[in-house]
Amino acid sequence: RGEKWDVSIQTEYEVVSSAPNPSEIGIDMGVKRFVTMSNGDFVEPLNAFKQEQEKLAKLQRKLARQKKGSRNSRKTKRKIARLHRYIADSRRDFLHKTSTKIAKNHSIVYVEDLKVLNMSASASGTKESPGKNVKQKSGLNRSILDQGWYGFFRMLSYKLERRGGRLIKVDPRNTSRTCPRCGLVSVENRKSQATFACIGCGFRSNADEVGAINVLRAGRARLARGMSGAVRPLSAGTQRDRLQH
Ligand SMILES: [Zn+2]
Repeated sequence: RGEKWDVSIQTEYEVVSSAPNPSEIGIDMGVKRFVTMSNGDFVEPLNAFKQEQEKLAKLQRKLARQKKGSRNSRKTKRKIARLHRYIADSRRDFLHKTSTKIAKNHSIVYVEDLKVLNMSASASGTKESPGKNVKQKSGLNRSILDQGWYGFFRMLSYKLERRGGRLIKVDPRNTSRTCPRCGLVSVENRKSQATFACIGCGFRSNADEVGAINVLRAGRARLARGMSGAVRPLSAGTQRDRLQH
């Protein structure tokens, strides 16, 4: 990758089945806050790339002006590759640190099912403002890609399983508009991107935190009903895993 090599080492080992930390938590993914947890903790997104992205665009414009195959253009190409690598590495580092911290402190983590999240974003559009919805949806898709939500879930899942815990995906519909105090479901409960204020009982809170609490509850309900589908049993015994942080 850009003049450097990656080395991947595969190991096989016995998982020490230590009694898992009994804590469980719900997580809401977002753009302003990368993750918000049902206990009120949150992690800011990694926004350090704005500067790098401007630098990247500048280098790409420079490359376009330079003569193909010339010494200068090769030099610019190397700079671009280095910058790409730096951005990718920083992002991966951030995702690893964040997922490790959560997996260490909790054994069952409930998250929104991103597939359903995308679908509901496209379906929630109105005839009055289809343009607005398209914009919102592409915005959501872009931020999911930009911030590596899929990669984050994958890391979280194997790190939890390694410790005897697990990641459980829940249907995210209504998690942003249900009042955790009185249960009222209304679009109007969501006053703004940041504020939740129930029109029924007056409960007010941070909107992402409300989302995380609802994810936690939806996950618990799903567990109580009996898990359907794709979740594997708690891991034990030998497992293969790529060596990562
Ligand atoms: Zn309420």
